[in-house]
Formats: sequence, C-alpha cells, structure tokens
Amino acid sequence: MDYQAVLEEVAAHVEPQIGRGRVAQYIPALASVDADRFGIALADVDGRGTGVGDWERPFSMQSISKAFSLALVLADDGEKLWRRVGREPSGNPFNSLVQLEYEHGIPRNPFINAGALVVTDRLHTLTGDASTTMLDFLRAESGNPDLAFDQDVAASETAHGDRNAALAHFMAAYGNLDNPVPTVLEHYFWQCSIEMIPQLPLGGAPCRDLALAGGFLARHGLRADGSRLLSRSEAKRVNAVMLTCGTYDAAGDFAYRVGLPGKSGVGGGIVAVVPGRCTLCVWSPGLDARGNSVAGVAALDHFTTLTGWSVF
Ligand code: GLU
Repeated sequence: MDYQAVLEEVAAHVEPQIGRGRVAQYIPALASVDADRFGIALADVDGRGTGVGDWERPFSMQSISKAFSLALVLADDGEKLWRRVGREPSGNPFNSLVQLEYEHGIPRNPFINAGALVVTDRLHTLTGDASTTMLDFLRAESGNPDLAFDQDVAASETAHGDRNAALAHFMAAYGNLDNPVPTVLEHYFWQCSIEMIPQLPLGGAPCRDLALAGGFLARHGLRADGSRLLSRSEAKRVNAVMLTCGTYDAAGDFAYRVGLPGKSGVGGGIVAVVPGRCTLCVWSPGLDARGNSVAGVAALDHFTTLTGWSVF
C-alpha cells in the first residue's frame, strides 16, 4: 500500500473539519495552541514511518500517555492492577468524581483520570520514578532522544489541578494509593506534559514518533528492538481497553466510526492501532464536547474506510 498517498487522501478529505471544535481551555498552557493544525502519520510494524500535514509540529501528549503507563505496569506486574482499577467504559466525563464515590474509590477503567492516577501510582512503586520511566520508554521506542517534559504544561496542570487532586485524595481515603498524593500527582502531570518534539538536528516528526512509540501494540507486544514488553495476550488486553475506554465517554462512537483501538488526549492527539499492521498518530487540537479531536476522529474514520483496516 502507498501509505503516503492514503494519508494525503485522508488529509484532503478532512480539510473542511480542521479548525472545528475547541482547543482545551482548562489547562491554560494548552489554550493558546492554534486550532487550525492537522497532521497524521503512520508507522508500520517494521518501523517505517511517514506522514502528511503538520506531522512535524510539536504537541502535548496528555492522556495518550495513559496507554503507555498501562502497558508498562502490566509488563512489570501482570494482572494485579485489576484489583485496584476496573476495565469497563465509564460513560462519564474523564474527570468525574461522582462515579468514584459510588464505586468506593475503585476507578472504572485505567484511562479516566482516577484510573490513570492509580496506574501512575503503581508504576511509581514498581520503578521508583514513573514519569522518567515513561519518557525513557518513549525515547527508546520512537528513536527520538529529544522527547521531553514540557515544564510550562506541567506547571500549568499543577496550578489548575484541583480536580485531579480531589480524585487522588479521594482514592487515598479509600486506601487505593500507595504513594503520597503529591508524588502521584507530580508524576501524573509530568507524564501528561510530555511533548512530542522534533529531533534536532536530524529533523524528526512528532506524529510519526508517537506512532512509532506505540508500535509494540501493533507488534503484539514486541518492542522496536525485537525484545518483548508484553505477552501477545497482554498486548491484546491493552488494545481491548483502548477500544472500549480509550476515547473518553465517546468510545462507543469511536469504535462505531473507526473500528480500531485508540487513545486520545486533550492536546488533540490520538494514537490508533491496527494490530499486525501499523500504528497511526493524528493530531489536530480542535476538540469535540467529549474531548476528542474533531478532525482526528474524522481522519481515522476515513482511513479505515479507505483501507478496510479495522479490527472488525
Ligand atoms: N493532564 C490532563 C488531565 O489530567 C489529561 C487529560 C486528557 O488528556 O484527557 O486533566
């Protein structure tokens, strides 16, 4: 398949949607991003990547990091995580407090904020440094050693993180965090702040780099260097949770339209996996009411329609 031609067709198709939606406002450092951006990249299972549009512009990873933290915890700790977090779609906003109270401090899934805080807590216990572990992993898998924390975004999230702090304290009250709340929040904000930045001086491509970093999910658990991160079954499980819970409370609609495991972030990025074939990363900062990139979802929808590459 001529990936470049397919991506160009996808980009042309979604052109009218670019700039629609609203850039995330609740993290001030993200609010100034230009909504009129669109980039998409594809990395195949052999590590070849290509892209179109603004695929070479930096963007904030945000909740896409949650798919990586889940994978890193399952790799190290197996199934034990599921005692502390569920794996059902939430049907509620990603930062909802109400559901957590009903469910006694056990988050519905690892991709709502409460669940991601538990995963970060576990990763921190397992590694001693959750956010650096993730950054190192992303650098290794993407081949881009310049990926970095964005200090401004992390500071902005910390300054406006009352809701996440409330979720963390609430779970601590139920005994569902091992580390102190400030430690968990700090590492969670750092992991969300990771910026996909071009590699200098070689010139890199953030969309492609993030697609490459997620390649282990398309390779049934094998890392870029051929070593195994996850068993085939564990990789299936991460993909399954991405499909059912990876796009906020619009996961049903995403599955309906796109038919692939995907994880979105309020920075406007989405990573989607075609098991056995490739990973895609699309970025366009205008978000719909649920928090997913308007042009990003439309692009993935058109990609699977054009190629027939979905899991269904
Ligand atoms: N850092 C963001 C938050 O915790 C991530 C949200 C997201 O991308 O879904 O609110």
